[in-house]
Amino acid sequence: MYTPREKQVKTMPNKNSFSGRGFSRRQFLEAAAALGLTGGLNFATFTAAPQQPSDGITLAFTNGRIHTMDAANSVVSQLVIRNGRILAVGNNVAAQSGAGRTIDLMGKTVIPGIIDAHDHVVLVGNRPGWHTPLEHVFTISDAIAVMKARSAEVPPNEFITTVGPISAMQFSERRLPNLTELDAVGRPVFITAAQGGTRTNTLGKMWFETRGVTVGADGTIGNPASGLALQTLRKELLTPESRKRNAANVLQYYAQLGITTHRDAGAFHSDGPSTGVANENTYTMHDPFLALNREGKMPARLRIEFLHQDSPTANPPLPTLSQRLRNSFPMFGNDWLKTDGIGEFTGGGVDGLRAIAKAGWRAEDHALNLAGVTGLIRDRETVNAEIPISNLRWIIAHIPDFPMDLANRANAMGVGVLVGWGALRTGMNVGPPYRMLMNHPIKKGYHSDGGDITVINPWLNLYTITTGKNLAGQQILGDQNLTREETLRLATSLNKWFIWDDELGSIEPGNHADIVVLDRDYFTILEEEII
Ligand SMILES: [Zn+2]
Repeated sequence: MYTPREKQVKTMPNKNSFSGRGFSRRQFLEAAAALGLTGGLNFATFTAAPQQPSDGITLAFTNGRIHTMDAANSVVSQLVIRNGRILAVGNNVAAQSGAGRTIDLMGKTVIPGIIDAHDHVVLVGNRPGWHTPLEHVFTISDAIAVMKARSAEVPPNEFITTVGPISAMQFSERRLPNLTELDAVGRPVFITAAQGGTRTNTLGKMWFETRGVTVGADGTIGNPASGLALQTLRKELLTPESRKRNAANVLQYYAQLGITTHRDAGAFHSDGPSTGVANENTYTMHDPFLALNREGKMPARLRIEFLHQDSPTANPPLPTLSQRLRNSFPMFGNDWLKTDGIGEFTGGGVDGLRAIAKAGWRAEDHALNLAGVTGLIRDRETVNAEIPISNLRWIIAHIPDFPMDLANRANAMGVGVLVGWGALRTGMNVGPPYRMLMNHPIKKGYHSDGGDITVINPWLNLYTITTGKNLAGQQILGDQNLTREETLRLATSLNKWFIWDDELGSIEPGNHADIVVLDRDYFTILEEEII
């Protein structure tokens, strides 16, 4: 039942530039994120602001198709929320709720807020320049239009950037925009794509060339110049304010795409400005998110993993991991921002895993092939024989190759697996074996792994899991695709275990009111409309 146990939530209408324009081809979500509303709900996106005094208003939603993702897979028409919590769910709960306001959903589909149980949104929040996400556009002209619209809020001569979650495969042209096209933006532009390729325009070319970075006549920046370009942008443009602006912006952007909880899986550590798209200072990169949380301005929830990569020959051993385990707290914070475990690299081999188990922390590693995942499971079995890990909810992510005997062995130790990560992949039967996993008792959940090597937009990956196709329309999953309901379950209720929070991932009384109103019915639209 409902108990008012958390800090009160107030919301404000979305003020950023992403709402509602030019998303004709794609599913775009009209309301998201922890609704405890005071403003006028008109199917625009709302930003949740925790730590604000409560207004105590009870809000009822009626006439919806509310997919609760509860254990019985209930679909109901009404929902009542108060102060960021779900008060009641059913077909006849609005009238007697004493709601101060009632919202007619006009038949729209509602789902629980999507949980991305492993992405790299903290990296994306720390990009230099005015990072402009482009994961919802699929032609070069639409991308240019978004960047041009963005330029209205970007001072002249400041960089508009898209660094990481963008790919040539997402565009119908199957290439990135070129210099001439990017010149239309009217600001210096810098794009570095997840699956390779770096581009700038004439203003950017001039800026880079005065700093010794070689740029081709068509705006292409090759390797290793692209790394130098990124490092130079980081050196000259990053400030605490710019990081905070981008952090708020990207959380808001993904909330509009339906993600209300991110579990961030870390970065490769660099002390100073790095040439690597997956690198940041892992001791300071959370600062902008911590600042947003302090100010009560988190647009979505964040869980933080700590990535470690100690050298196996280090002396003394485990120099960074041992200090982390001594000096930090796992699962510490509030409902909006909380630490998690060690990952997505534990880094210290069996010794590292042993230290993590001894300290009672969660551990996560990723696997890129069969040999890798077999080794990870063998190492966990070694540690589990000494220190039981079954209550620590350890995770292995990606698992493109994962035969059933490995699922049996992982499940026997209480180890769960995260899958997803597929929209940009190519090849035949590239995995993971979704159908096998769905029929197996092992814990499984959805992750995008997006931010540096792939996209975060959940609909692109949900499309791949349900259709078996990548963004270029090629079949990559063989016979392992899932139903839409199973797929959404991976990204909502099945992710409770991975977030370690039963009050998220389903629309049930007492849970956080993280709900998403879809612009179209995910369950019945044509396949190609999912993205
Ligand atoms: Zn990752």
